[in-house]
Amino acid sequence: MLFSELAKYYEKLEATSSRLGMIDIFAEALKSASVEEIDKIIYMTQGVLAPAFDGIEFGLAEKMAEEAIAIATGYTKEETDRDYKKSGDLGITAENLKSKSKLKPMLQKKYTVIEVYNTMKKISETSGSGSKDIKIRLLSELIASSAGIEARYLVRYPLGQLRLGLGDATILESLSIAKTGSRVEKETLERAYNLCSDLGYVGKELFEGGIGRVRNFKVAMFKPIRPALAERLPTAEEILKKMGGRCAVEQKYDGFRCQVHMHGKKVRIFSRRLEDTTQMFPDIADAALKEVHSDDIIFEGEALAYNEATGEFLPFQETIQRKRKHEIGKKAIELPLHLIAFDLMYANGKSYMNEEYETRRKMLEKLLEGSTTIIPSNRIITDSSKEMEEFFEASVENGLEGIVAKDLKAPYIAGARKFSWIKMKRSYKGELSDTIDVAIVGYYLGRGSRASFKFGGLLCAVYNKKRDMFETISRLGSGFTEKQMSELEELLSKIKTQAKPARVDSLVKPDFWVYPKYVVTVRADEITKSPMHTCGREKQEDGTEAGYALRFPRLVGEEAIRSDKSVEEVNQTSEIIEMYKMQKKVRVEG
Ligand code: ATP
Repeated sequence: MLFSELAKYYEKLEATSSRLGMIDIFAEALKSASVEEIDKIIYMTQGVLAPAFDGIEFGLAEKMAEEAIAIATGYTKEETDRDYKKSGDLGITAENLKSKSKLKPMLQKKYTVIEVYNTMKKISETSGSGSKDIKIRLLSELIASSAGIEARYLVRYPLGQLRLGLGDATILESLSIAKTGSRVEKETLERAYNLCSDLGYVGKELFEGGIGRVRNFKVAMFKPIRPALAERLPTAEEILKKMGGRCAVEQKYDGFRCQVHMHGKKVRIFSRRLEDTTQMFPDIADAALKEVHSDDIIFEGEALAYNEATGEFLPFQETIQRKRKHEIGKKAIELPLHLIAFDLMYANGKSYMNEEYETRRKMLEKLLEGSTTIIPSNRIITDSSKEMEEFFEASVENGLEGIVAKDLKAPYIAGARKFSWIKMKRSYKGELSDTIDVAIVGYYLGRGSRASFKFGGLLCAVYNKKRDMFETISRLGSGFTEKQMSELEELLSKIKTQAKPARVDSLVKPDFWVYPKYVVTVRADEITKSPMHTCGREKQEDGTEAGYALRFPRLVGEEAIRSDKSVEEVNQTSEIIEMYKMQKKVRVEG
């Protein structure tokens, strides 16, 4: 496929205001691609070169893209910059200047999708002295031979500003339609995706081996499994009832979730967000090699610091120091970390994904026998709500977050929040016990005392998985530091749009819309009903319509703006509804 053809599909995608329209357009694009092109087209459309866990970055700054545009069109850097100030979008500037290029038209080479992808890969791989000029030259060559509209996407792609608005679910549905003519295989594809976190790979397997191959998809070493997640309930009685009268109850540790893959001498550790964080945990990687009795294994646990002298787990804030990438070696000595293992997915050449929890747990204990750095989580098996309650209280007294109850018979359910795991956490007076992750879908200009700022707050949404839509839940105007405000203004102004993005459902209109791309973590006092928001919106007893909203939301912490988390991983509408129901019964600690 020529890149110019793909660019035409992108133009259509950008113009459509309906989610179903997006799926049909992208399915058409996939249908006209060859097997070799599928994974590349998927990565390109996601705005990446490889799955996120590979951590590959373009390393191309805006100034460099401006220079590439200038070289390819014969304008000066200043003229290019002036056009950018006007358009607010370097892709549009590239397209503008290309259409009135000052250079003599030359014989144009028509690049294929694969050629463009390979050049972009080269741009990302070029490093060291002189690399800046090489990157600029590679990009300018592509722009020089493009005919207008392609230039828009050639520039936006390496800057991470495609503005297409397709999410994982949208891509999976398009794949199903492109290959089978209907949406029904979306779930089969999603299951495969949950096992490998790599949409390009799933697409390639589908196009190469048909849906049969995708049905037989297995976990793969060094491709992270999307983590199982826990539902929540407020009391031990309710948990036991839901679990059929008997279950395992593990302590809930508040550290870093680690998914460890080990094969031969190679170890990779993935975070809850599926980033490769191996270099942050040298002592755990080392222990995996030395202490685990298996040649290959995939298992997970919570990494946290532990004070050997007092036998206490250190608070989250102290553990977090470890996360800072600097001085890892030194910190490893000062704060030895432990990995509290709680699940097993693969060992000795066998997948444990479909085995019952109790089987996985027993095997995990066997493989960790005698280990000291990696130890199995503390747990009980009980049919008594009183015993569960006592275990919960003891955990909280030990400075832990609470408990996670586990269904003894359940398989490992990748990438989903299910009642096979149920958490119960301590909560504080006047606050929701959980922070909430929301997607930014719009923003406001400063008003009143903030009138001089280009940033006055956010419009936030949660994800409705069934509808594959983002539903608004709150305006967010407090908790920002000045640094965060200017950071947000800078990030968001680059992806703002005039029209509401196709997958956003909103009754309020912010000053600017943005494609769901960034995630922020907020804390709120409670969840309330509101006629203004679309989260879980439905008819009320009095005949009016209302959705759910956050009361007194504020941004929390220095690391509240998270570009590491994909927008589909924010809290879901169904969770918000559950939290709302739970609020009424919630336990309160003094
Ligand atoms: P939270 O903020 O409550 O950790 P979450 O969305 O990150 O929420 P959940 O699946 O809702 O994750 O809750 C389970 C989380 O608790 C896991 O992600 C894991 O990091 C952590 N955890 C700590 N101890 C355990 C345990 N024994 N079993 C399972 N998960 C545990």
